[in-house]
Amino acid sequence: MLIYDLSHKLDSETQPYPGDPVFSCHQAANIKEHGYNLTSLTLGSHTGTHIDAPYHFLEKGKTIDELDLSLLIGPAAIVDVPSKKPRERITWDDLVRADVVGLLDGGCRILLVRTGWSRHWKSPTYLDHPFLDRGAAEKLVKLGVRVLGVDTMNPDETPDGSGAEGDFGVHEIILGADSMIVENLTGLEQLPGNHVHVSLLPLNIAYCDGSPIRAVAWIP
Ligand SMILES: [Zn+2]
Repeated sequence: MLIYDLSHKLDSETQPYPGDPVFSCHQAANIKEHGYNLTSLTLGSHTGTHIDAPYHFLEKGKTIDELDLSLLIGPAAIVDVPSKKPRERITWDDLVRADVVGLLDGGCRILLVRTGWSRHWKSPTYLDHPFLDRGAAEKLVKLGVRVLGVDTMNPDETPDGSGAEGDFGVHEIILGADSMIVENLTGLEQLPGNHVHVSLLPLNIAYCDGSPIRAVAWIP
């Protein structure tokens, strides 16, 4: 079976959300001295391709170890918004034009937004991604979306470094609906069509707000 990898490789150049812990790994043991290779990892809970649990924004929200895994494996719809400019808002009208209602018809609870912005990974432009309108997120929740995946750093606008506070409206709507957000997806362009199956499983980390995932897709 052909498996499509939707995850960025974690390496020393992994681009963090501004201010987040930086990924690093170093050899803690090696075959020559110890008889085996072993690596020490340092990373944040939102490093690379990862999932946000409701607890990321809600004190009483579900933590990573409490997520319903059945929501994270299964059919996913992909909605195309390929022509957005830096820091341009993705509106409900944009999604409707891309037939989001039809794509979700049939009970898809996972929606991936394919902007193509992952091509800017590891460049400053990656931070200037298009972002989803809060009202559009509200409508997606009403349509039954339980997992929102984006091929950008953030479904909300990422602060531009000017000191302005970020707005986390989409996070508040999606996580507030006991649903989940997957960020920093890559390789969505290689997926044929607008329906795939995906697996977006997190590590089983106690009381945590997020976790790196190995996101993959396949055609059943
Ligand atoms: Zn996150």
